[in-house]
Amino acid sequence: MLTSIATVSLSGTLESKLRAIAHARFDGAEIFENDLLTARSTAREVAGQMHDLGLACTVFQPFRDFEGMPDELRGRTFDRLERKFDLMQELGAPLLLVCSSVSPAASGDRSRIVADLRELAERAARRDLRVGYEALAWGRHVFDHRDAWAVVKEVGHPALGLILDSFHSLARAIPLESLREIDPSRIFIVQLADAPIVQMDYLSWSRHFRNMPGQGELPLVEFVATLLATGYAGPLSLEIFNDQFRATSASTVALDGHRSLTFLFDQAARRLAPRFSPELPSAIKPRGFEFVEFAANEEESGQLQSIFTALGFRRVGRHKSKNVARWRQNRINFVINSEPESFARAYDAVHGASVCAVGVSVNDISAALARAEGLQIPRLTQPIGPGQLVMPSVQGLGGSLLYFMEAGQERAIWDSEFLATEDAGPDAGLVSIDHLAQTMPYEEVPSWVLYYISLFELSKTPVLEIADPLGLVQTRALESADGGLRLVLNASPGSRTLSARFVQGYHGAGLQHIALATRDIIASARRLRSLGLATLPIPPNYYEDLAARFALEPTLLHDLQELDILYDRDSGGEYFQLVSRAFAKRFFFEIVERRGYRGYGVPNAPIRLAAQSQYRDDIER
Ligand code: MG
Ligand code: MG
Repeated sequence: MLTSIATVSLSGTLESKLRAIAHARFDGAEIFENDLLTARSTAREVAGQMHDLGLACTVFQPFRDFEGMPDELRGRTFDRLERKFDLMQELGAPLLLVCSSVSPAASGDRSRIVADLRELAERAARRDLRVGYEALAWGRHVFDHRDAWAVVKEVGHPALGLILDSFHSLARAIPLESLREIDPSRIFIVQLADAPIVQMDYLSWSRHFRNMPGQGELPLVEFVATLLATGYAGPLSLEIFNDQFRATSASTVALDGHRSLTFLFDQAARRLAPRFSPELPSAIKPRGFEFVEFAANEEESGQLQSIFTALGFRRVGRHKSKNVARWRQNRINFVINSEPESFARAYDAVHGASVCAVGVSVNDISAALARAEGLQIPRLTQPIGPGQLVMPSVQGLGGSLLYFMEAGQERAIWDSEFLATEDAGPDAGLVSIDHLAQTMPYEEVPSWVLYYISLFELSKTPVLEIADPLGLVQTRALESADGGLRLVLNASPGSRTLSARFVQGYHGAGLQHIALATRDIIASARRLRSLGLATLPIPPNYYEDLAARFALEPTLLHDLQELDILYDRDSGGEYFQLVSRAFAKRFFFEIVERRGYRGYGVPNAPIRLAAQSQYRDDIER
C-alpha cells in the first residue's frame, strides 16, 4: 500500500507539514495550492525538500471550475491551466486534480465537457503530466463518480483518469458495486476521508467534518476493499478538511493519519484474504482490565489507602524491591506506586496522585506489541531490577502507560513480584472493573478513539451529549464484544464544564472515574456506608422523578433514595449507580450493578454532574 496525505489536512507551514508527513512514514503528499502560495520556499525548493524527505509528490490540487465554461471565459481558463502546469513542473508534481465545476457559468452540455477535458488531456500529455477528474458531491453538473467515469471513458485519453474520493461517493451513498465497473488502471489516485453522519449540505459537511478513516461512520472498509478487489494498486491518500485537526499539531494529525490508513488497509486485507495478507497481527482481543495503577507520593498514598479501605479493598502484597503495594478485592487489583525515581513519580509530579497506568490481559503479548508497533504506538520500557519480570507497556492516554499481561499468567506475575501481606476482613462485594472513564481535551477525542479501536477489537457506541450545569459534555463508549473491556471517553467543547475543568486541573487527558461492578448494589452500598465511604448526595427531586418515570417497588425506591443510588433502565435491563466523592477533584469511583443493562447511565449524568459541580463549588467556597 502506498500512502499519501494532502497538506491541507495539517496545521502549520508547508515546510513543517512535509516534515510531519515524512516523519509519520507516508510515501507521498498531495500539495495543496494554498499551502504553496503561502510558503516561503519556491516550488523548486519544495521539490528539493520533498526529495530530501523521501516524499513523492502525488497530486497538485485543486484546479476548480474548469469544464463547460462559456467561450468568453474558456480561453482564460486554459491560460490559467498552463500556468499551473508550469508550476507543477517546477514542483515535480505528476498529477493535477481537477474537480468537477461548481461555477454557475458552467454548461452541462456533455459534448462540451468532453471536449474541454480532451483538450486538457492533450495539453497535459505534451508536458508529460497527467490529470485526474474528481466528481465533487456538490458539483454543478457532475457530482457522481459514475458520471465522472463516463466522461473520462468518453474522452478516452491516456493522460486523463479518474480521481475517487470516498467522501464524495459515500456522502451520496452511491452503490459500491459501481466501483467494480471502473477500469482500475484509469483510477489515478484514491482520496480517503471518513465523516460522522450529520444532516447538512454536502459542502459544509465536507469542509468541516471530514475525519480519518475509522473516526467517522462511513463504510470506508467496504469502499477500500471493493477497490483493492478490482486490482487498484495506486496510492491511498488522505484528504481531511477538519477545523479541529487544523487546531492540533501537525505531527499528531500526521501520525493519526498514517495509523488510520494502516488500520484501514489491515481491515480491508482481512476481508480479501487470501488474496491479500494483512501486514499486522489481528486486533487485540482484550480479556479485561487486570489492574489500575495509581501514582502517589507517601502523603498521597495514605489518602488513597483510606479510600481503598473504605471501598472494601485490602492490601494483599508489597513489591519485593520497590515502594509499590497491591490492593485487591475479588478480581479487581489496584496498585499504589510510591517508588521515587520512577515513571509513576514523574507522572505524579505533573498530574498529582492519579491513575498512571492500566494493565490489560491479552492472549498473546508479542502479537499485541507487534500490532502496537505497526500502528506506531511507542513502546515504553522501564529499567527493571534483578529478578523482576518485564511487563511490556506502550504509550497510553495522555502520557500514561498501557501494560499488557499475558492471560493465564497474571497470578504467576503477581506472586513473583509481590510478597503477600494480610488479607483479612470482609469486602464490599465489588467484583470487577465495569468500565474506565477517561476525560480529554475535546480536540484529542478523534485521536484517542482511533488509538483504541485500531489497537483493540472494540466497537464504538454513538456519541451522546450530556448537559453539564456550565456547558455540554460529549461522551462515547468503546467496548469489547464480551464487555470485558469498556472505556468511556468524555470531552467538552466548552471551558467551564466539570470535564473541561478536569483537563485544566489535570494538565491533560486522564482517567476520571473507575466504575466497579457489584452483584448487589443495595448490600454493597450499605457495606460502603459502614466502611465510611463518602458518597455523592443526590437531591430528593431526583427520586420523585424516578417514581414518576418507572414503576419501582416502594421498598426499592426507598432504599435507592436512602443510599443515594441512581437508577436507569433500557431495553436490556436495569442499572444502578453509586458515586463516590472525588479524590482531590481528580477522579472518583462509581459502584454499578448491571441487570442486563448495556449503557452507562447517561440519563443520570446531568444529575451526577450537577451534584458534583455543586459539591465542588461548596468546597471551593
Ligand atoms: Mg477530494
Ligand atoms: Mg460511568
